[in-house]
Amino acid sequence: MIIVMKSGAAKKDRDEVLKRIRELGYKPHVIHGTTRVVIGAVGDERGKLVLQSLESMHGVENVVPILQPFKLASKEVKREASTVRISDTVTIGGREIIVMAGPCSVESEEQIIETALAVRDAGARMLRGGAYKPRTSPYSFQGLEEEGLQLLSKAREVSGLPFVTEVVNPETVDLVAEYADMLQIGARNAQNFALLKKVGQTGKPVLLKRGMSMTIQEFLMSAEYIMSEGNQAVVLCERGIRTFETATRNTLDLSAIPVLKGKTHLPVIADPSHGTGNYHYVAAMAFAAVAAGADGLMIEVHSDPEHASSDGPQSLKPAKFALMMQKLQLFAEAADRYL
Ligand code: PEP
Ligand code: MN
Repeated sequence: MIIVMKSGAAKKDRDEVLKRIRELGYKPHVIHGTTRVVIGAVGDERGKLVLQSLESMHGVENVVPILQPFKLASKEVKREASTVRISDTVTIGGREIIVMAGPCSVESEEQIIETALAVRDAGARMLRGGAYKPRTSPYSFQGLEEEGLQLLSKAREVSGLPFVTEVVNPETVDLVAEYADMLQIGARNAQNFALLKKVGQTGKPVLLKRGMSMTIQEFLMSAEYIMSEGNQAVVLCERGIRTFETATRNTLDLSAIPVLKGKTHLPVIADPSHGTGNYHYVAAMAFAAVAAGADGLMIEVHSDPEHASSDGPQSLKPAKFALMMQKLQLFAEAADRYL
């Protein structure tokens, strides 16, 4: 249920409402809109009508049900777009298109620092790189783990770029959160509910990738798992879904971008690298994603893709990435955004 407070309602009235929601066995989430505060009360759907009684409390304008199964992620709770602050210099969801770029996996100090500087100089605002890799095969490179996090931190120091890196299990979330500016939930873990809850408890911004066979509603329900733990800093990432098509690694579902934007206030970005699996197609799909309304892009960049530990075939060399970024300016402007 949504408890809409009167505009200018006193803090003491709000506190009373929060207390009553808890007494009724629900979890309150305060959401600050531009003109008024609303409180999302989430919990057992079956008994939610008891919350209707809050309508008679001081400062409450009305109590309305949230019709969508995803509650806190829904536009019903918050009509205006949310922004997610990553660092002093980077916020996702404003007019600026945020590009996060870097290798699939962190491989060495030289590699990650060199790449961080190259993508920064080309206009990327965040560094990406996997330290823990969720590989389809147990025999593939699994990542440098904590050493990878230390190298990413060094690269952040040298380049000034905040970084996003993946978490693959609940046990290592706290460790990764000590280093990272943003936690990535990968496609293979997008319905790992224990992991979603755990990142929801950290308060760190989360980049949630769409699972490869997830519907848009399931995707939003995964975001809801994170938000219901108290973490509202969620950014969604369309990274391609599995279809009958084999010419590309995945099918980048660009229509998901406007569909998501119609359903949720959360920022949405696209990952054309995993979406296509082939560097030849990355720039075209990056432009298309911006045209479709994406708030940012995740792009894999490697200076020696032939020898990359993972995802070489879809990685752009730094020079190609820089060229793509130049052209992207025009698409950003056409979409009334900037880089
Ligand atoms: C990645 O970002 O390197 C990755 C593994 O992505 P996804 O989870 O989308 O496959
Ligand atoms: Mn990858």
